[in-house]
Amino acid sequence: MATAMTQSRVWTVGMSDCEPPPHLSDDLAERVVAAMRQHQSPSYPRAFEVWYAHLSGEMPAITLAMQAIITGSDAKVGAADIDTLYDRFISTERLARHAERTSLQVLGEIDGLMSLVDKALDSSERYHGRLSAMSEDVPPPADRQKLREWVEALVMSTREEVTRKTRLEAQLRDSSNEIRNLREALESTRAEALTDPLTGLANRRHFEEMLQKSIDQATLRREPFALVMADIDFFKQFNDAHGHLTGDQVLRLVARTMKDKFKDKAIITRFGGEEFAIILPDADVIAGKFGAETVRQALLTRELVKRSTNENLGRITISLGVASYARGDTAASLTDRADQALMAAKRTGRNRTVTEDAIEATSHVA
Ligand code: GH3
Ligand code: MG
Ligand code: MG
Repeated sequence: MATAMTQSRVWTVGMSDCEPPPHLSDDLAERVVAAMRQHQSPSYPRAFEVWYAHLSGEMPAITLAMQAIITGSDAKVGAADIDTLYDRFISTERLARHAERTSLQVLGEIDGLMSLVDKALDSSERYHGRLSAMSEDVPPPADRQKLREWVEALVMSTREEVTRKTRLEAQLRDSSNEIRNLREALESTRAEALTDPLTGLANRRHFEEMLQKSIDQATLRREPFALVMADIDFFKQFNDAHGHLTGDQVLRLVARTMKDKFKDKAIITRFGGEEFAIILPDADVIAGKFGAETVRQALLTRELVKRSTNENLGRITISLGVASYARGDTAASLTDRADQALMAAKRTGRNRTVTEDAIEATSHVA
């Protein structure tokens, strides 16, 4: 049998690709840096953006939320606070602005399209009017000169109409292509609004939609499904020891491992922070536990090596809780049972999976 070392796979972790901080005036930059130091804030780019948005006064909502966190001059604003503020205000605000801009463009394009259609109808009407006027005024066959002029006028009118139609057709084609592009942009904005930017997994909002959908289907068709909640063990310590950016890479690794293991057979979501929620269709609690264990064990074989320094960071472990849909369950009741099972896994030593039916048996373990 292979040893743990030979079985293990090495994963390198490095800098994340956060957005650069916005441009700051010198005075504001100094205030941002001073406030970050005073409140022991992490100093990665997203944190700059949050502090900038707060201190510049550009986003009153973030200022209010920050004031609620800063209850004293030495109050700490940690990574979890920064991430929550960033997700709730800055990324949402950006998406909303993008969606608004794209919607206005769609409306502008539709206006343009309507006026093209009006133009096409107008020109058709005029052409038909001209043809019926001409048909009432056909010169006698004997008057060759008049007949020639009549035919020339007819040819000219038709040629003009064909040119106009060809031009309008090209404009209509451009306009409908533009509308198609804008519709795709809107769809991708919606997809972005449901995606966690760090891991590419579905985000909490998407999870809530999908969980409700799964409950509705399970109620209707009596199909079982399982909910797995997973949480990285001692992740705060990991961040403190190796830095938040390296921590971000670990979140990506966990997400990638889950995707590898479940492929498209599950809805894998980042529930928040270092917590993941997985909806497993057609699974009872035993199948849910099997899936959960597959991910846990896969992570155990993955040794982390920091890309920039080649430093070996060891392995990370996760704890998991599993519950399955029962008749009458709401999203809250099912999530709560999976969460209780997860807490039981933490309580009994971490790096394990606990199912809802085993919570009771763990309650006496300190
Ligand atoms: P436990 O085993 O009990 O779960 O301990 P823990 O340290 O993992 O749990 P705790 O809730 O004390 O800390 C969670 C940590 O997760 C703190 C926070 O900085 C970190 N975290 C949350 N979101 C992110 C993120 O987006 N990136 C990084 N790098 N860390 C994050
Ligand atoms: Mg944790
Ligand atoms: Mg947690």
